Amino acid sequence: MGAGRSGREYPSSARNRRVAHGTRTLYRDGCRCQPCRLAFARDRNARRQRDALPAPIDAVRAVLRISPAELRAQGVALYLEELRLAGVGLRRISLLTSISRRRLSLLRSGRLTRVTGRTSARIYTARVTFARGALVSARRMRRQLRTLRTMGYTRSDIIRRVGASVLRRRRRARVKSVLKVAQWYDDVTRT
Ligand SMILES: [Zn+2]
Repeated sequence: MGAGRSGREYPSSARNRRVAHGTRTLYRDGCRCQPCRLAFARDRNARRQRDALPAPIDAVRAVLRISPAELRAQGVALYLEELRLAGVGLRRISLLTSISRRRLSLLRSGRLTRVTGRTSARIYTARVTFARGALVSARRMRRQLRTLRTMGYTRSDIIRRVGASVLRRRRRARVKSVLKVAQWYDDVTRT
């Protein structure tokens, strides 16, 4: 910044003598005193930063320019993708919502860019059940298995009824196994 001119003296004009220094205006008037040089540099840096970054309001406008139907479609696409990662496929969602698989597929991929509120509500309110192969938390299943053990069921009983995989100390288990244990637990605790 002003370092290149170090050593040189810039006498203040007569007009500037009586006003407080350290402003950009005085610098532009020709004052090169330390406070005015600093004020000018600070302002210039601030202006450069402002120009380099997109104003936050522009980002907001970019979002608001999207219509509600488009915004809904984007939300639905994310939701469908999350369900896919959780093991819930389009066939199942299609069965639950009576929306065609083709349409759901277009929504999930983002190729269908608009969706009505009625359709998105149908998708969000569908009581999604997990695909049997999906992994879910094993906590409840493990607790149920412990109870079954205290009731007298042995490891080989468990292996016979549910499979050896549930004895592994994993945090997640297949929906299929969780459902089997839950069914078994319900049966023996109900009586
Ligand atoms: Zn000055």
